[in-house]
Amino acid sequence: MGTIQALRGTKDILPDEVVYWQLIEDTAKGILSRALYQEIRSPLMEQNDLFVRGIGEATDVVGKEMYTFSDRSGRQITLRPEGTAGVVRSYIEHGWDKLGGITRLWYQGPMFRYERPQAGRQRQFHQIGLELLGSGAPRADVEVIAVATDILKALGLKDLSLQLNSIGNREDRQNYRNALLEYLLPLEQELDQDSRERLHRNPLRILDSKDTKTREIAQNAPSILNYLSKESLAHFEQVQYLLTELEIVYQINPFLVRGLDYYTHTAFEIQSADLGAQSTVCGGGRYDGLVEELGGAQTQAIGWAMGIERLVLLLKELHPLPGIEPDLYIVSKGEKAEGQALRLAQLLRSENFKVELDLSASAFGKQVKRADRSGASIALILGDTESENQTVKLKWLKSGQEETISIGQLISAPSKYLELR
Ligand code: ATP
Ligand code: MG
Repeated sequence: MGTIQALRGTKDILPDEVVYWQLIEDTAKGILSRALYQEIRSPLMEQNDLFVRGIGEATDVVGKEMYTFSDRSGRQITLRPEGTAGVVRSYIEHGWDKLGGITRLWYQGPMFRYERPQAGRQRQFHQIGLELLGSGAPRADVEVIAVATDILKALGLKDLSLQLNSIGNREDRQNYRNALLEYLLPLEQELDQDSRERLHRNPLRILDSKDTKTREIAQNAPSILNYLSKESLAHFEQVQYLLTELEIVYQINPFLVRGLDYYTHTAFEIQSADLGAQSTVCGGGRYDGLVEELGGAQTQAIGWAMGIERLVLLLKELHPLPGIEPDLYIVSKGEKAEGQALRLAQLLRSENFKVELDLSASAFGKQVKRADRSGASIALILGDTESENQTVKLKWLKSGQEETISIGQLISAPSKYLELR
């Protein structure tokens, strides 16, 4: 029988990669909590309807990428393809929309989309995201963008560009949609298959196409910025003003769009020049209509999500992190000494030393060689003689210097005797 492998588009995150994940998670958590965002953990599976209503049937995600199945009682269940819909469902379910005020939430975890796997694109992938609900102020837009740029900066990432756009309000977009259709209709035959299908359902999404020819056509399309109402323009200008105040560099990209009715005003992406085709590390925007669309009270909101796999790809280029190395390596031989070594390991760990215990029972020489290779500073050696005398031999592995002390002494002041060098 053949062996079983991980599903296409899914991946084991092995220990030497997990260090990067932890770095990203710890960095993000620190910055998010200092900005008073609180973590929320919503279920990985939800009713299919949540995503159909919350993301929209005309999108790729809902149209072709969802993992949807009937459970044993025939309910339509979907593995979440993104985080916002679940968070907003929870926000409404717990009555926060009725309380008013501002809610700052963040989440992280796996998302599932049936896509064509390639570097930086998987079927199970992971995001860290945030949602700021209850404010329509341009300051809120800038706060969330600043939190995102802070996280990326703290990770040491460079060559990033912030692309910024406004898609106005519902009415602005209706006007723009008409103008866009007028421009695209005569070019219909030159568009790629997907875009032709979108032409009547959701023409704004065509601007987002990855097809080369369609992109060329899109470059000459009318700009949405010429269709913004006075209020929408004022919001957009204030966002830009505040970003400039914070010295956050951005580029305006009128073709950065989200095609759905409940998306409003600010849309943004942060891209890296070092990621090839999958260049977007963070995508977000304002969604003033979503809470209402999902049955809650009218609530203005904005959020973003970052793809952790893409961040890991960038971080690996940036700094090869060292593997884990013990501070101390304990070598022992003989029944009594082995028991003693086990107790000593426990005790020194409780004193915050990283301690590896040799479990091999091989000859001392071999164990000490392993200690050398482990990267530890000091080997603690316990043999019959030492355990007779209640002593331990310390060997500094770099210099070869040795010293024998009593176990009592060591226990009374471990950091005094175990000087890591
Ligand atoms: P893309 O254009 O790359 O498909 P998207 O617009 O579908 O991205 P969002 O839904 O905005 O992406 O998700 C936010 C972020 O999550 C993306 O910018 C990306 O970093 C990450 N992401 C999205 N889909 C995947 C995937 N299949 N595999 C890995 N990361 C992903
Ligand atoms: Mg996508």
